[in-house]
Amino acid sequence: METILFLAHTEDDGTLGRAALEALTGSSELRSQLADARFAVGIIGGDVSGAITTTSGCGADAFFAVQGGDFAVSRYATDAAALDAICRASGATIVLAPATSRFNRVLPGVAQRMGGRVDTHVGGFAVADGALRIQRGYYRQRMIGTLTRSARPWFLTVDAGVFPRWDGVSRDVPVQHLEVPIDDRLRRTTVVGNQAPPSNAQTIRPDAKLLFVAGVGWTKKQGDGQVHLDEAAQMILGFLDKSGASLGSSKSLVDQSSEGHNVFSFMSHLNQVGQTGATPRHPKGLSTCCHGEEPHVVGWRFIGERRAINLDANCGWAQGKADVVYVANAFELVRKVTELL
Ligand SMILES: Cc1cc2nc3c(=O)[nH]c(=O)nc-3n(C[C@H](O)[C@H](O)[C@H](O)COP(=O)(O)OP(=O)(O)OC[C@H]3O[C@@H](n4cnc5c(N)ncnc54)[C@H](O)[C@@H]3O)c2cc1C
Repeated sequence: METILFLAHTEDDGTLGRAALEALTGSSELRSQLADARFAVGIIGGDVSGAITTTSGCGADAFFAVQGGDFAVSRYATDAAALDAICRASGATIVLAPATSRFNRVLPGVAQRMGGRVDTHVGGFAVADGALRIQRGYYRQRMIGTLTRSARPWFLTVDAGVFPRWDGVSRDVPVQHLEVPIDDRLRRTTVVGNQAPPSNAQTIRPDAKLLFVAGVGWTKKQGDGQVHLDEAAQMILGFLDKSGASLGSSKSLVDQSSEGHNVFSFMSHLNQVGQTGATPRHPKGLSTCCHGEEPHVVGWRFIGERRAINLDANCGWAQGKADVVYVANAFELVRKVTELL
């Protein structure tokens, strides 16, 4: 009989982040598919009371917590000690956790301490013949592999965007607070704070409903024989501002920037979507001035509804890669849409 343990850490404000709520939905669904499985929740953080309330209606048989100032921050040594304690107390055989940077860093180490195995970036579960099978992407998400393991405990970090957010009712549940001794040896790393770019410089927004992708067409000579870089930059930023979309790019556009000409200062290789770029997850995507070539579109694997704006009715998007193609001038169309927004 399997014991599924869902692990989460609180955010700075004591809540659970999106990835954790999604992984909780996945854990709850898995529990309903694995006959006879026991189900436990384990939470670490400075103050876990809010997170326990949020998760309390998930039907878990047991709730474990490690809380206090030492566990408020992302630090390998203290996180590993806390998670190790929860894993042992729960008797977990399958451990599910959100693929946050905090957990991606520490969970492989916890798996090692427990004599278990870990698989990261899990993109789905299936149960066949009473056994768990997981799905994950390979070769930059071009191939999906399904695999299972007999080794236990089996640690899995679940990618964001795979399951809907948990949104259950809360109820009173007993919580087992574990005392984890922390000495100065485990506090050698001091977390002094977070550094993040200003929000208006932050164009990559994983939580956005829309991915707005800019291609090299924005920098090309237009119908009047001129390039309109400043106008293009203002238009892209204006649309992002009004829509709250995340900004993606084709490789050609960010390559141009790095060569020192036609620079959009708000864009870097981190925005690049594709085979040699990122594979973001968003419900919708809008491609503008981008041709829709295969090495680029492969990065759209997890985009739900795809639309594109291109002057060329024979562009790659029109070859079955988008749900809707607007054969139109993106300068005119994006200006109009931004006005409407
Ligand atoms: C091994 C390998 C890996 C690669 N990996 C990636 C990757 O990860 N990501 C990636 O993006 N590419 C990748 N590429 C490159 C990819 O094949 C394309 O070269 C690239 O995506 C083209 O970028 P683009 O569509 O912006 O530019 P272009 O192909 O130049 O297309 C520009 C488009 O803009 C349109 N346009 C121009 N003006 C307007 C206007 N006013 N309104 C509307 N449309 C307009 C044009 O009609 C044209 O279709 C890879 C290539 C290889 C070989």
